[in-house]
Amino acid sequence: MLKEYKKESAFIQDLFLNIISIKILVKTFSMFIFVDGKNTSEAYSKTNNKFQHQMDLHEYQGKELLNSFGVRIQRGIVAQNAEEAVAAAKQLTEDTGTGWHVIKAQVHAGGRGKGGGVKLAKSLDEVKTIAEQIIGMDLVTPQTSAEGKRVHQVLVTEDVYYPGDSEPEEYYMSVLLNRANGRNMIMYSTEGGMDIETVAEETPHLIFNEEIDPATGILPFQARKIAFNLGLSGAAFKDMTKFVTSLYKAYSESDSSLFEINPVLKTSDDKIMAVDAKVSLDDNALFRHKDLAALRDLREENPVEVEAGEHGLNYVDLDGNVGCMVNGAGLAMATMDLIKQAGGEPANFLDVGGTADAARVEIAFELILRDPAVKAILINIFGGIVRCDRVAQGVIDAYKNMGNIEVPIIVRLQGTNADIAKELIDNSGLDVMSATEFQEAADKVQQVLG
Ligand code: ADP
Ligand code: MG
Repeated sequence: MLKEYKKESAFIQDLFLNIISIKILVKTFSMFIFVDGKNTSEAYSKTNNKFQHQMDLHEYQGKELLNSFGVRIQRGIVAQNAEEAVAAAKQLTEDTGTGWHVIKAQVHAGGRGKGGGVKLAKSLDEVKTIAEQIIGMDLVTPQTSAEGKRVHQVLVTEDVYYPGDSEPEEYYMSVLLNRANGRNMIMYSTEGGMDIETVAEETPHLIFNEEIDPATGILPFQARKIAFNLGLSGAAFKDMTKFVTSLYKAYSESDSSLFEINPVLKTSDDKIMAVDAKVSLDDNALFRHKDLAALRDLREENPVEVEAGEHGLNYVDLDGNVGCMVNGAGLAMATMDLIKQAGGEPANFLDVGGTADAARVEIAFELILRDPAVKAILINIFGGIVRCDRVAQGVIDAYKNMGNIEVPIIVRLQGTNADIAKELIDNSGLDVMSATEFQEAADKVQQVLG
């Protein structure tokens, strides 16, 4: 769920953030939404895109998906090593007649070209050297951390910028949800191949939006309008209407939450195709797309988050110093606000779900404590279905089992049997502070942070 490559464009991301908040709020019991709106949105922006319920695909997987809906793509074959890359290049020459090849690092991050992850090879020797160089490298792009992302595979593609009757042209196109009106949106621009946020800043009049009613899908006049606004005519105009119609269908039928195709290319012989593809699927809908769910590449994800997921815990790694263990996404967000008010920053988002027994609490402790930045842990549990005294016992058992927890722990239990729970904690003889009220918990966090 934590996705780096949505940083692809801060512009798109702003729109995204809106979508996420709606999703979380809808999923959350309204009883928990009592937090100050400003702080909550602060927590959202702080945690950036980390709450997005989505699964990202690699470029090659995204392109295959598009292709299966009739969207023309720059063709390619994925390769795990230099030998496979050379074989792929030979195959592509046979299939497409291409003389040159573009070798593209497959990682979940945008801006690969800028980081040296997209390179043109003019011979098979060059295919080999470039593939050797890219596979295994830690690719640093404007959207990765300073350490970069390890490249495990490359996509060997045909060169589609060949000379011909007209100049090749690059456009930008994305499909996403506009939560303001509950409609899908095709955002597009004549300024392809560059960051869309730069376009948005410098030449916002060159970005167009087309709202699509999800009930009707894209209508023929809308597809024509898009082709027209992109300045196309003749065969390219017609091909663009086909391209955008298939693209929308692919977005809608795959239950995607974002398509970003940058660049969409008009070739010198007037064909429209996707040269790049950033595809994010809505992971709430993956249950009805088993084939797409199988495309998940765990190597691209945060290992602690993956492990938490295996234990049924909803964990998102953040940058702060206070570890959180909470049940329910809404309460978790409110808790993050509380931590901020107390002068801390949440180190993680952790929803332990409905069954906060000793075993789960112990796993949660263990995951939280792997982060060396954690200076305190705040446990905030609302005992609605789960009984507070059972959670308290779970905390005590886990604490005793682990034996070596050195950071202070503040436990706030509210709801069924909260008083018994407080007594259990207070009499446990352990270095755990209990609180019943929200403010009391905040004060204690402040106190331990000094
Ligand atoms: P990213 O967006 O991660 O940098 P892209 O797939 O968009 O990766 O590739 C970066 C740039 O490389 C593109 O904007 C395009 O101009 C160029 N490029 C990609 N494929 C080719 C190709 N076949 N021939 C020439 N240039 C290409
Ligand atoms: Mg691109």
